[in-house]
Amino acid sequence: MGKVVLVTGANKGIGFEVSRQLARAGFTVLLGARDGARGNEAASQLKSEGLDVRFVMADLRHAAECGATLARQIGEEFGQLDALVNNAGIVDQGDGLPSTVTAEAMRNIFETNFFGTVLLTQPLLPLLLAAASANIVNVSSGLGSLETNSDASGPFYHAKLLAYNASKAALNMFTVNLAYELRDTKTKVNSVSPGYVATDMTGHNGMLTVEQGAVEIVRMAQLPEDGPTGGFFSVEGIWPW
Ligand code: NAP
Repeated sequence: MGKVVLVTGANKGIGFEVSRQLARAGFTVLLGARDGARGNEAASQLKSEGLDVRFVMADLRHAAECGATLARQIGEEFGQLDALVNNAGIVDQGDGLPSTVTAEAMRNIFETNFFGTVLLTQPLLPLLLAAASANIVNVSSGLGSLETNSDASGPFYHAKLLAYNASKAALNMFTVNLAYELRDTKTKVNSVSPGYVATDMTGHNGMLTVEQGAVEIVRMAQLPEDGPTGGFFSVEGIWPW
C-alpha cells in the first residue's frame, strides 16, 4: 500500500505546496483545511495535476473532535498514517510587544498554533504508530527560537511578536516532549523552520517562494526509519532552540 500523509492548513501557502510535493513523491495526501469550500477547491486543483489528494476537514479550533473523526476515517480506509505535517498556523493583528499584546491575540494564536496542534495530533498517534515508520513534522518558525530572539546581530531580532513567537516556542516543546515519549517507537517528531516565505501570512513579503519554504518540511516528512528525532531544522541545517 502507498504512504499516506495528513497536512493541516493545506488549502494555501506553504501547506498547499507541501501537499503538492508529497503527492508528487507518491503519497496519498489528505489535504486538511478548516473550510470545506477552500479545502475542496485546493484538493481539486492538485487532483487536476494528476495527484492523489483528498480534502479532509481539520479545524484546529475544534481539534479534538476533528482529530477523533479523522482517526476513525483514516483508520477505516488506510489503517495507518505514515506522516503528519502540522502546518496550520495563524498570526493576529493584536500581537506585538509584551507591553501591548492583547489577551485576545494571545488566546487566538495559542488556540490554533499550540493547543490545536497538540489536540489534533493526540488521536492520530495510534495510526502513526501502526505505520512501519512514521514522521511528525511540526511547522515552527525561527521566531520560536529563544536563541534567535536573543541574537541582536540576527535578521529577525526586531520581530518581537510575543504571542506568535511564544506559540512556536511552545510548539517546539511539544516536539521535544513527544519525541521523548515516542523514543522507543518508529515515529519521529521534528520541528522545521521554513524560512521567511511569501504567503498571505507575511503579506507576500517573504524572501522565499512557497516551493523553497516547503523543501525542508517535505524532506522531514520522508525521513527514513533511522532519521533524527526531537530536533529543530531549517533548509540550512540544525536551527538553535
Ligand atoms: P498562510 O498562507 O496564511 O496559510 C496558513 C494556513 O493555515 C491556511 O491554510 C489557513 O486556512 C490555515 N489555518 C489557519 N487557522 C486554521 C485553523 N484553525 N484550522 C485549520 N487550518 C487553519 O500561512 P503560511 O505562511 O503558509 O504558514 C504555514 C505555516 O508556516 C504556519 O504554521 C506558519 O506559522 C509557518 N511559518 C510561516 C512562515 C512564513 O514566512 N510564511 C515563517 C515561519 C513559519 P484558511 O485559508 O482557512 O485561513
